[in-house]
Amino acid sequence: MNFANIYKNSIEQPQAFWDGEAKLIDWQQPYSKVLDYSKPPFTQWFIGGKTNLCHNAVDRWVATQGDKAALIAISTETGTEKIYSFKKLQAEVSRMAAIMQTLGVGKGDRVLIYMPMIAEAAFAMLACARIGAIHSVVFGGFAAHSLATRIEDAQPKLIVSADAGSRGGKPIPYKPLLDEAITLSAHKPGKVLLVNRNLAPMNLVEGRDVDYAALRAQHLDSQVPVTWLESNEPSYILYTSGTTGKPKGVQRDVGGYAVALASSMRHIFCGNPGETYFATSDIGWVVGHSYIVYGPLIAGMATIMYEGLPTMPDAGIWWSIVEKYRVTRMFSAPTAVRVLKKQPQEFMQKYDLSSLKTLYLAGEPLDETTSAWISDALGVPIIDNYWQTETGWPILSVAKGLEDMPTKLGSPGVPIPGFNVKLFNETTGEECGANEKGVVMIEGPLPPGCMQTVYGDDARYVSTYWSVLNGKHVYSTFDWGIRDAEGYYFILGRTDDVINVAGHRLGTREIEESISSHANVSEVAVVGVEDKLKGQVAVAFVILKNPAAANTAQAQQALEKEIMGVVDRQLGAVARPARVYFIAQLPKTRSGKLLRRSIQAICEGRDPGDMSSIEDPTSLNQIEGALSS
Ligand code: AMP
Repeated sequence: MNFANIYKNSIEQPQAFWDGEAKLIDWQQPYSKVLDYSKPPFTQWFIGGKTNLCHNAVDRWVATQGDKAALIAISTETGTEKIYSFKKLQAEVSRMAAIMQTLGVGKGDRVLIYMPMIAEAAFAMLACARIGAIHSVVFGGFAAHSLATRIEDAQPKLIVSADAGSRGGKPIPYKPLLDEAITLSAHKPGKVLLVNRNLAPMNLVEGRDVDYAALRAQHLDSQVPVTWLESNEPSYILYTSGTTGKPKGVQRDVGGYAVALASSMRHIFCGNPGETYFATSDIGWVVGHSYIVYGPLIAGMATIMYEGLPTMPDAGIWWSIVEKYRVTRMFSAPTAVRVLKKQPQEFMQKYDLSSLKTLYLAGEPLDETTSAWISDALGVPIIDNYWQTETGWPILSVAKGLEDMPTKLGSPGVPIPGFNVKLFNETTGEECGANEKGVVMIEGPLPPGCMQTVYGDDARYVSTYWSVLNGKHVYSTFDWGIRDAEGYYFILGRTDDVINVAGHRLGTREIEESISSHANVSEVAVVGVEDKLKGQVAVAFVILKNPAAANTAQAQQALEKEIMGVVDRQLGAVARPARVYFIAQLPKTRSGKLLRRSIQAICEGRDPGDMSSIEDPTSLNQIEGALSS
């Protein structure tokens, strides 16, 4: 069957299609029904089936390839490299699971993981999956305030963390941020489990903080059996930014997620057991969940976890890893490639890259120059893929495992089987034809693996993402898109106030709230502005309570630094605006709504658009004036 027919079947007969795909994983108890869409937009997959993510990722492979590499943890920060076979990984995960159980964690309890890219982070995720606890991994680059909001929302019984991460050879202490976050949060975890890497001093809080190495030594021989879970029980929560300051906890299931990952590993990423997969993301993001930890392992592949910069000790580091471990499939982001593009190409030519078959790029728009450059430098095809934290796996791509379809520069490809992608006109609600710009939407039911709900808030899930158009429930991606006559999509940017910095999604509201907490800030607008390297950067326009505090260039610089520092401390350096400008008035509509898109347009040197609703047109001059000062 060709791709078009497979896709058609997946949309017209989802039960039959996913029943077939479900055979890619192990079930302890078969499901009684493939799909329940009786309460749209809520979707349940593989009802009554019992399975386990850790079993499918680890135990399942122990019998057939127990001594083969499963997890390869490389840190150029600490100069360490450890290979865990499936057998060894099973033992470590079992130890971690036993530790969690002795700390009182059981099925349904939340465990927050705030960790650098070390093997123990993967052990912790897999251990949660093993015992039916729900993990919530928080990106290590987030600071106390971001962490506190996530602790408060998920209410973890246990937090797993470490003394420090490391970046560019410099330790980045985690423990003080964690302590501050716990102080800020109304919810307090019962226990905090700490991996001591001896990178930074750590004060242990008595009765709460426990040392991982000491507990591991007590559980060396522990064997914790897998807890079988009904397919629709929650496996994890992963927070993502939206248009309000409060991050949304994307909740995922067990069976549907395992099937979706197994299916995508086969059809899109074309991975085979025994091969090595290298995704350069971080476990704090969705790529880290789907394609560093669970996906490759479910496919029986070895997966590489890399702590370090792409340019240290030199720009050849990734390619030396590809050579050493005979990596076949690699996954990265356009920003990382743009960083490498500034380095001499000889770093790539130094290594034997003959094992590498494909480089997958995702997370942000892939420009043609970057795509062509890296394809040429590596001599392998580049496959763009478009998806979101919410979907958990690619919505658009080309599925070379199903048919050798061509890619098109600038397009992430076509809808992947299971995703009924449609474009709708924002004002009329009508479906768009070829070459007409619209909002990218997915008609329900969403395929397996996508978010089940917003953690603890079904109403927010429905009101944020879903609408009924032409009598059908449709999910909004909040992206603009266009489809050509051959069915290839092109993504044109977000329709909401979410920005994408180096592939990381940030809510401008969150940054604005943080900046507003500075004592001298009266009002602030944050917009995403095009950037050659990072895709977009955040830029802030601030009205001061006391403008005299910024009346010299020097005072402005100092205040700009101070405000950046506030964001660093509260949200983390990822959210730090690239520039902070001080102005006297912000452009708003007569009803007081901030004209962010006009501000953004001016920053990017574009026309600000229809200004008929603006309260005071001179406010735009202020933005222009600030930019040129
Ligand atoms: P996140 O949930 O952090 O993965 O961010 C998802 C958002 O990143 C999407 O809604 C898009 O705006 C953007 N995005 C992800 N992948 C791509 C891609 N391949 N091309 C263009 N934009 C992308």
